[in-house]
Amino acid sequence: MMRRLHLLAGVMGILLLPYPSAGEESDTLPCDREMRKTIEAMQAFRRQNQGRYPDSLSDLTRHGYLQWRDAACPLNRQGDAQADERANFISSRRLGGDRSGRYEYELSDQVVLNDGSRMFLPADPPPFTRAQLKGELLRRAFSEQVPLLRCDQHRSGPSPASNPDDGRRNATAYGTIYWSGLYWEQVWIADVPGTSRDLNVFYGLEGPPFYVDRAPALDGAIDFRPWNSAFGDVAWWWELPFFDEGSNRQRTPDLGPFFHHQQGMTRDLGGTSWWLNGLVQVQGEFSEAPGLNRYHQPTSQDHPPSRLDLPIKRHFHAASWLQGTLWTGSPGEPVGFLIWHYEDGTIERVPILYGVHSARFWCDEEQSRDEQLVRNLVSPVWSEHQTREQVGVERQLRLYQQRWTNPHPDVQVTSLDFVAATNSPAAPFLVAMQVTP
Ligand SMILES: [Zn+2]
Repeated sequence: MMRRLHLLAGVMGILLLPYPSAGEESDTLPCDREMRKTIEAMQAFRRQNQGRYPDSLSDLTRHGYLQWRDAACPLNRQGDAQADERANFISSRRLGGDRSGRYEYELSDQVVLNDGSRMFLPADPPPFTRAQLKGELLRRAFSEQVPLLRCDQHRSGPSPASNPDDGRRNATAYGTIYWSGLYWEQVWIADVPGTSRDLNVFYGLEGPPFYVDRAPALDGAIDFRPWNSAFGDVAWWWELPFFDEGSNRQRTPDLGPFFHHQQGMTRDLGGTSWWLNGLVQVQGEFSEAPGLNRYHQPTSQDHPPSRLDLPIKRHFHAASWLQGTLWTGSPGEPVGFLIWHYEDGTIERVPILYGVHSARFWCDEEQSRDEQLVRNLVSPVWSEHQTREQVGVERQLRLYQQRWTNPHPDVQVTSLDFVAATNSPAAPFLVAMQVTP
């Protein structure tokens, strides 16, 4: 994703990290203790202040919940007087905020968001603070994963592949402490996509959880609730309401015109009845190489590479699924696989081929020119045209149907895996699946 909200990026969000060895862990003990003490002071503050979080860590020291020297990494206490060279407008440690040396505080009232993202926002967006944004995340499912405090002093611990200086300790409102890279969301993308963690929540994103809690009311429908990572009504793959620049600036494509905010329902399409309740997103290749066009390929890991072990427990003759991809791939290349596991140990691996079974779920004029060069391109089972007046460009939204005949109808299928191809940037998603007995 655009590297990305450089505005937000400093405090939020990158890479799955190896967890540190026991030796490294013990180096963090004094810091972990200090973080827990700070979180406890914060909870004490909230009990006295109608549940409100302090506006800064200084509020805790000023009102006697902590000593002046507290709320800072023990490694950093000697450095109190020095300015934090890295502190900038996205840091809580800046003029008017906490002194340098303190932990980064994610609910600071001093960090105003949206200036750097203005080009991707609607006209005249109201300014808002990181505290408001995090406050919203803390009201949703998986709030126990949202860090309140971050220490950037423990660089010798985990070594994210891209940048060894990116290791951070995080403390949550529940007192849990964990490692992440700069982008803490990346540790948790299986539950909530990295792109659904920040500004999107202010622009209509519902969830998590990303489904209505209703079992399929349709025979043969596969229940995707354990896997769902987006409703699809609002852009789930780009965290801001607008996408691209200049004459191609457009409302970020989403499947709102398909779902109409109606989840947990049956719809007929392409001669098949489907149970609709959000969608399942996986992602393969991404590249952080500078200079790549962030409007043409993913530049960070925002979705999990696979979803595994969905219970199926049925015999069936055929399966059919509704799908698309986020980005383009080369015609004929696998963008992902559905892997069926049978009770006798048999495995069937079904590829999803770009241009043959699926394609990017939106098509503007540029994409349309590219696709005219492809022979026998798959036709969508659903599409809808959007106009320049509606979304900024002329474009089409679309979904594809893939059918598969089960070669072992007499053997029970126990479970299903959905895996992105690691060498394709297309990032496939599934909207629904139907099996025929
Ligand atoms: Zn520390």
